Amino acid sequence: MCASSCEKDLYAVLGANPSESTEELRHRYQQLVLKCHPDRLSGHSSSEAEMGLKRFLEVDAAWKILSDENKRRDYDLLRRAHDLKQDWPVDSTVFLEDMIWNNDERLYTHCCRCGGAFIIDEEEVQEETLRSSSQEEEQTTRGQSKGVIVCCDTCSLSVYVTWTNLPQS
Ligand SMILES: [Zn+2]
Repeated sequence: MCASSCEKDLYAVLGANPSESTEELRHRYQQLVLKCHPDRLSGHSSSEAEMGLKRFLEVDAAWKILSDENKRRDYDLLRRAHDLKQDWPVDSTVFLEDMIWNNDERLYTHCCRCGGAFIIDEEEVQEETLRSSSQEEEQTTRGQSKGVIVCCDTCSLSVYVTWTNLPQS
């Protein structure tokens, strides 16, 4: 998957905010398409028409993903993971099985090298497990396992916590 340099932020393409509803996005899409639809640019110079077409295709592609509930959810997850990776360096991958289970507080902890801890609670694990198992077929073919990025409670490091099956607790 190429989520880093070759992909533009689809919300930015539409001039939208990630929290906007599909209806708001649709409105933005329609406004943009009105401005840069190839039919509208027939009287312009060829380079302008070309730019307009490029923009139109970009806007159209962004809308096709963001207007589809499932695709938008996938994209949001990818985008969030990507944002987190940019903001905080991901130190390493930690398997949930290797984390320390705290039965009293129902959470998993893992020591950070700064002396702090990476903490993920049972609920978060279950949520992510449910979310990814609803798209299980796709996940399996892509060879991905379930996982979330967890930030240290003390320093700015984060780890990617991953698991294949919900551990017995
Ligand atoms: Zn730390």
